[in-house]
Amino acid sequence: MYLKTLYIQGFKSFAQKTKIEFNNKITGIVGPNGSGKSNISDAIMWVLGETSVKSLRGSKMEDVIFSGTDSKRPLGFAEVSIVFDNTDRTLPLEYNEISVTRRMYRSLESEFLINNVKCRLKDIKELFMDTGIGKDGYSLIGQGKIESILSNRPEQRRAVFEEAAGISKYKMRKLETENKLKRTEDNIVRLNDIISEIK
Ligand code: ATP
Repeated sequence: MYLKTLYIQGFKSFAQKTKIEFNNKITGIVGPNGSGKSNISDAIMWVLGETSVKSLRGSKMEDVIFSGTDSKRPLGFAEVSIVFDNTDRTLPLEYNEISVTRRMYRSLESEFLINNVKCRLKDIKELFMDTGIGKDGYSLIGQGKIESILSNRPEQRRAVFEEAAGISKYKMRKLETENKLKRTEDNIVRLNDIISEIK
């Protein structure tokens, strides 16, 4: 699997729809200071579900929407789509190409889509879990990330290895099941209370 194409529109400095094509080797992005290089990696993190404004180098989520320049009006929404080549079926979907889209309006109303079908943020997280891709995945190494991994507490550092070993998905499912069991146990206790009151 590899990152094939990125479409950015209305996101940060990218007012017009911009298509960036990658190949399965190495792509370098060069440009003068402030020309928008980091905005490209911000766009990748955002479309993969980043919800921390700080990680996106803003002060509020609305800051990701193009805010206008002397010659261009601000825009009302931001949209980013990322397309992966999935011919090797790394992602568990029967498609050779998988696209993920995130769209957000100034009202902060937002939408996520997988292959143009609306979905939840949770679906995107689950799709990429254990692949190293995703806002917390080790394939996105931002400035200061290595330092933070090295200075993390041991259990936080272990999470990086768990993602690489492919067990985070099962840990998440275990937690969900434990929560469900807990809710069921609580319901049984309440039911028993009601039954004993009726008796
Ligand atoms: P450097 O090489 O200095 O790290 P860079 O090429 O990585 O720079 P970015 O940080 O990606 O540059 O882009 C900064 C530019 O993006 C600034 O000119 C800033 O005004 C612009 N920008 C950020 N958010 C928005 C927005 N919401 N609307 C319009 N422009 C924006």
